[in-house]
Amino acid sequence: LADEDRESRPRLMLMGLRRSGKSSIQRVVFHKMTPTETLFLESTSKINKDNIHSFIDFQVWDFPGQMDFFDPTFDTTAIFGEVGALVFVIDSQDDYMEALARLHSTVVAAYRVNPNITFEVFIHKVDGLSEDYKIDTQRDIQQTTTDELADAGLENVQLAFYLTSIYDHSIFEAFSKVIQKLIPQLPTLENLLNILCANSGIEKAFLFDVISKIYIATDSSPVDSQSYEICSDMIDVIIDISSIYGRAAIGAKSQGYLDDQQDQEDWSHQQDGHDDYEDSNGGGHGHSQAVVSNSSRAGSLNNQPAQSGGNHEAFSVIKMGNGTVLYLREVNKYLALICLLRAETFEKQGLIDYNVHCFKEAMDQVFELKRAERTRREMEANQ
Ligand code: GDP
Repeated sequence: LADEDRESRPRLMLMGLRRSGKSSIQRVVFHKMTPTETLFLESTSKINKDNIHSFIDFQVWDFPGQMDFFDPTFDTTAIFGEVGALVFVIDSQDDYMEALARLHSTVVAAYRVNPNITFEVFIHKVDGLSEDYKIDTQRDIQQTTTDELADAGLENVQLAFYLTSIYDHSIFEAFSKVIQKLIPQLPTLENLLNILCANSGIEKAFLFDVISKIYIATDSSPVDSQSYEICSDMIDVIIDISSIYGRAAIGAKSQGYLDDQQDQEDWSHQQDGHDDYEDSNGGGHGHSQAVVSNSSRAGSLNNQPAQSGGNHEAFSVIKMGNGTVLYLREVNKYLALICLLRAETFEKQGLIDYNVHCFKEAMDQVFELKRAERTRREMEANQ
C-alpha cells in the first residue's frame, strides 16, 4: 500500500496474554472465520503483523510473557509511536490478575512514548459469564486498573472498557467504537449521514468497512444492535453472492430464507444473525421473503478491495418480508454505505440514488481535504 494511503487509515494494535483470544478476534473480524473454528487455532508466540486491506490498519502483537518493556533493547518508540489505539484483551473466564499487571506495564510504557494513544480494554469471552458476573467483573477490572494507574501518577490516562465475545456482534460493536475515536472526520461524516437520512426518508444509515464489518460512522439516531446486525449480515450475503456470481449484474430471489431450518446450511455462516431477522418480523415464523438484487457496474464487494481509481458503483437491495428495505452502495474501495428504510420510501429510489450520489461526492471531498491539509503541513515542515 502507498504510504499516503497507510497514513490516512486508523492504526490499531491488539495485545494481551497468550490464549486471551487475540488471534481468534483477528480471524473472526478480519478473515470471516466462524467462532467455533477458532477452537483449533494454534497459539502464536511471536509478534505477528497482519497486513489487512481494509480501511483500518490492524496489527496483532503477541508478546511472549518474558518480554520486558524496560529492557533498553526493546524499541518502544517504534512500537507505540505510530499507533492510534492500543486494544488490550483480557480473558474474563480466567484468573485475570496477571493480565492486569501486564496491562498496567503496557499502558505505562506506551503512554510514556505516545500520550495520544487511546487505551481500550476488551474484557473478552464474556459469553461464558452470567449477567451479574459480567457486571462485577467489569467493575473489578476497571477499579483495579484505574487505581493502579493513579498510584503510578497516571490518573489522567483514559481507559475505556468493553465486554466482548466472538460468539456475538459485541466484538464488532466494540471495534466500531474504538475506530470511531480515531477518525478525525467523524463529526463531518455524521453530519453528512444526518443530512442524507433527513432528505431521503432513510431510518438508519451506517458507513461500513466492508472487510471487517466494522462501522466507522452512523447518523445520530440511536443505534440498536438489531439494525447493526442486519446490516452486517447483509454484507456477508452480498459478499457471498458476489463471489458466487462474480461481477455480473444479478438478481436472485430466495423464498423462505428467513425461515427456521430450511436454509440453515446455505447461509450457515450467519447463524447468529438468523434469529434477529425473525425478531424483526415480529417473531413470526410465517413465510417471509427476502429479495436480493445486486448490481455491480464497476466493481463488486469482495474480499479484495476494488481497483482504485475506478468508478465505484456497486449497489445491492434486499427487501425483507416486514416491509424494510436494505440498500447498500459502495462508497470507495474500503467503505460501503448501508441504509435501512421502509419499502414505501424506497419507491422513490431515484431521489435516494441522487442523494447517495451527493453523499459520496461529499465524502470524497472530506478525505481529499484531509490529504491536501497533510501535504500542506508536510511542505511547511520541510521549509
Ligand atoms: P491468543 O493466544 O491470544 O491469540 O488466543 P487464541 O485466539 O488462540 O484463543 C485462545 C482460545 O480462546 C481459543 O480456544 C478460542 O476459541 C477461545 N476464544 C477466543 N475468543 C473467545 C470468546 O469470545 N469466547 C470464548 N468462549 N472463547 C473464546
